[in-house]
Amino acid sequence: MAWLIRNATAVYSKEHPTATDIRIADGRITALGQGLEPLPDGSETVLDARGCVIWPGLVNTHHHLFQSILKGVPAGINQDLGDWLSSVPYRFWPKITPELMYHTARLGLYELLRSGATACADHHYLYHRTTSPEMEEAVWQAAEELGIRLVLCRGSADEQGSHQGMIDHGIEPETLDQILARLEHSHRRHHQDGGNAMKKLVVAPTSLIHSSSPESLRLQARWAREQGLKMHSHLLEVTFDEVQARHKYNMSAIDYAESVGWLGSDVWFAHLVHSDAHAIQRLAATGTGIAHCPTSNCRLGSGIAPVTAMARAGVPVSMAVDGSASAESGSMLQELTMTWLIHRSVHGPEATTLEQVLDWGSRGGAELLGLHETGALAVGKAADLVLFDVDQPRFAGVHMPLMAPLMCGEPVTVRDSFVNGKPVVQDGRVAGLDAGELTRKVQEGVKALLA
Ligand code: ZN
Repeated sequence: MAWLIRNATAVYSKEHPTATDIRIADGRITALGQGLEPLPDGSETVLDARGCVIWPGLVNTHHHLFQSILKGVPAGINQDLGDWLSSVPYRFWPKITPELMYHTARLGLYELLRSGATACADHHYLYHRTTSPEMEEAVWQAAEELGIRLVLCRGSADEQGSHQGMIDHGIEPETLDQILARLEHSHRRHHQDGGNAMKKLVVAPTSLIHSSSPESLRLQARWAREQGLKMHSHLLEVTFDEVQARHKYNMSAIDYAESVGWLGSDVWFAHLVHSDAHAIQRLAATGTGIAHCPTSNCRLGSGIAPVTAMARAGVPVSMAVDGSASAESGSMLQELTMTWLIHRSVHGPEATTLEQVLDWGSRGGAELLGLHETGALAVGKAADLVLFDVDQPRFAGVHMPLMAPLMCGEPVTVRDSFVNGKPVVQDGRVAGLDAGELTRKVQEGVKALLA
């Protein structure tokens, strides 16, 4: 289908900074400019973007969609990461059925779409010895139905890396053979190569330091690289990672990662809050990226990742919401607003720029996920883009309307958005989803978890 979007208040495009109009054909941006006229053959649908600013779709590089049904669990409200894992995700994991997984994935993806995202990396780790394949299928299905790009980061914990919270809640870890066989199955069934893929698989042991043996990490890395798949995990969210790496392996966490083959331009880590100068140097030298999750890091009291120093050193930076059990907003836009502000509070008003933060939240994420044909508004790129309605009182006084959503933050209205040229939000509604029905399904799910 072909579209002509026109009369936008402003468009975030480095190629055409004064553009107000965007032409889309066969999923691609074919023109950017001012005063574009509909093709005479009438083949285009014209969308009037008056009162809207247009951004590239935001790219969330780290989520746990299953946690969308675990917001604000009282036992975990004031706990740090280690205790919270046991009180919240590991406590409820055994009760999450494939059907519940489907509804909670729909909720998490809905929240991303309504806050400006068009791609999501889901670090899905609900795998144990007898996991039904339907659990993972529920995530793929939810994304496919809503039309959002999904990068499924396949988590795992082996026998040597089972968290005490898993043991306490009777979750029996997979064997390495199971992990690899199940990865192979998902790879065959879902993964698409290339920079315009709708579905990608990533090899993603749940925690680099804690969930796998060194041998398992080496074998998973080798398998990933043989298939050309990217690699992801949690690292240095809390200081315990550093303590454990030194205790178990007699080296720093970052050196341990390197020793097992887990640094490189095909790897990105969530958090990296406690990165010292040496860690930043190794990340930069190897092209290893970060998924920066400021809301979750605040909520769990983990600290502030040094992303401004990382960016200066050349570390690829992207942004992420993390799971909603530790970041209840589930909003991609909130992460951008937080990032813009939080580093200034520590390093002064020149620490971040609006453009830099928007680039991290769009192109930076697209590149780390291997979605090279997305992430920016330019001719030839896939049409992943978002129209924010700024024709509202709270934005009316803003002198830079293009950046109004980022500066003013939530609540925002995504009026329309497109993934690969296909509308996924239309006139403020997430396509293919009844918000009332979703609310009821999730409320019933919460009751079932507590029964
Ligand atoms: Zn996480």
